[in-house]
Amino acid sequence: MLLSHGTNIRWLTGFGGSLGWVVIGPDRFALITDGRYGERAAADLAESRLDAELIVRTSRPELAEAVTATASGPASVLAEAEHLSHAAWGDLAEQFPIEPAGGVVESLRRVKDAGELARMTLAADIADRTLVEVAPMLDHRPTEADVRTELEYRMRRNGADGPSYDTIVASGPQNAARPHHNTGDRTIGEGDTVIIDVGALVDGYHSDMTRTFVVGAADARQNEIYDVVRDAQAAGLSAVRSGVAAADVDAACRAVFRHAGLEDWFIHGTGHGVGLDIHEDPFSSPVSTAELLVGDVVTVEPGLYRDGFGGVRIEDLVAVTATGCELLTHLSKDAPCLPSLPTT
Ligand code: ZN
Ligand code: ZN
Repeated sequence: MLLSHGTNIRWLTGFGGSLGWVVIGPDRFALITDGRYGERAAADLAESRLDAELIVRTSRPELAEAVTATASGPASVLAEAEHLSHAAWGDLAEQFPIEPAGGVVESLRRVKDAGELARMTLAADIADRTLVEVAPMLDHRPTEADVRTELEYRMRRNGADGPSYDTIVASGPQNAARPHHNTGDRTIGEGDTVIIDVGALVDGYHSDMTRTFVVGAADARQNEIYDVVRDAQAAGLSAVRSGVAAADVDAACRAVFRHAGLEDWFIHGTGHGVGLDIHEDPFSSPVSTAELLVGDVVTVEPGLYRDGFGGVRIEDLVAVTATGCELLTHLSKDAPCLPSLPTT
């Protein structure tokens, strides 16, 4: 088997460089990378205590040759169809029979071990602490970008290797109505709902959470929508347990929205797995076929969005257990947290 997906290579070998290939054969286990990463790859392999062959080449043609030479031999080679360009696939197919294989390493890395959970717990704690520090600035008419930049800077100061993804700060009647708004230069002011979706990165592992604030006093409609989302999120959390269909977690949230007559305001799935990738298996939506397993780390993140109103989303990161789930996100979500008040 030939691995080309950086996340899978990192999980299997510890190698975190941006370019690498792994070949796993009947009697070969090799990591192939280029000259920029030679020393780092050797150190990463040593730290992982992996007895893998390290092959370092300088030019792209030499690298391609090494991949071909190392993978040649068996009757056919399995390759990661979702993580190999059409052009690279064509080049390899000229050298030996190649067959698509998907999700092999993904299924192995889906369930997290204690070391992985510890990293994600720390990442979630850093994001929690940082949002508590930064939320009060919402009272002082910052732009969305000001809040984003402050969160990302302070997460690093608080021990993160960086943000887990582009931090989302979506404010007001239009921007907060877009679940993946591109944080911009809009000035946040009194009466705005503000969705902040923020996570920290620790040793390659991600955290992911969302809180929604109202600047100043929330009006009746804002409180009403907030309460429905909070109830839906609580229903989703109570549905999480090993052996449960991921689609049922989504259905639990959706039922609360349906009961409130707001189902068409919910325009995305309920959650996703998180690990070395920010979005990974298992996904929870109406079409999910996955079943939750002990050790899955997933989000529960229902939201309601409407142009002219804005939006509310609440997202927690949780580890699935035999009897339910353990919350990795601990920040308060009882009310549209008012930045001027303590949030914990
Ligand atoms: Zn998120
Ligand atoms: Zn998420």
